[in-house]
Amino acid sequence: MTTGRVLLASDLDRTLIYSAPALELTMPDPQAPRLLCVETYERKPLSYMTEEAAALLEDLASRTVFVPATTRTPEQYRRIRLPGPPPRFAVCSNGGRLLIDGHSDPDWRAHVHEQLAACAPLAQVRAHMLRQARPEWLLKERVADDLFAYLVVERALLPDTWVKELADWAGPYGWGISLQGRKIYAVPHPLTKSAAVAEAARRAGTERVHAAGDSLLDADLLQAADLAWRPAHGELADSGWQLPHLRVLPQRGVLAGEQILREMKDAATAQAERPASRR
Ligand SMILES: [Mg+2]
Repeated sequence: MTTGRVLLASDLDRTLIYSAPALELTMPDPQAPRLLCVETYERKPLSYMTEEAAALLEDLASRTVFVPATTRTPEQYRRIRLPGPPPRFAVCSNGGRLLIDGHSDPDWRAHVHEQLAACAPLAQVRAHMLRQARPEWLLKERVADDLFAYLVVERALLPDTWVKELADWAGPYGWGISLQGRKIYAVPHPLTKSAAVAEAARRAGTERVHAAGDSLLDADLLQAADLAWRPAHGELADSGWQLPHLRVLPQRGVLAGEQILREMKDAATAQAERPASRR
């Protein structure tokens, strides 16, 4: 049965795919799920999903409109080899890029640039972040796609209040701050996954959006969706974030990714079986 009326939008890192430190396997080794490596970086394995999750995604991607929605740049996204047919639409750079059949859509890019005119320039926010950072814990600093900036930090040495203080400073300038694993992102408020996913839904002609994510940068996506899921780990879990249409999974780590796909499949199937008048 096809379920083409539903668009599935999912964050990738720590929602569908997991690096070794993020797997959070707790069972004895002989009972651990088999893992499929879906990304290598500099010729070494980097990201995984369970084989079961891979089968679920392959099935879902073939009968719904599956849209990966990531903060990764297109270049970082292209390293990932997801199971199933290549997604027609993909959201990269936290909404700054809408890839259509692998190519960045120029109209969407122009639209995004117009939206960002109301925020402080990237150079100003980046300079402030770097002034406030300390060499003891700052490992790397990057600009992504000329749209936003992030720091890679040594979490154990990062002062507890640093991210909050940066967020308090950035808010009035139209920028938000998100801490994910070892990365601290500074992203302008209008740059959202939900806006780019809404554009993909408009172009695909879908009726409903089902979404999953784990971090603050996914909050708008989950909020705008008709149905949403988040794992028991991550920035949203740490703050106890809830919504009436949000299902909070009990699982953490790579098994949460598998469960999200299982429940997305059940929801898409239930939607397809509903009579047209009650959708
Ligand atoms: Mg994530």
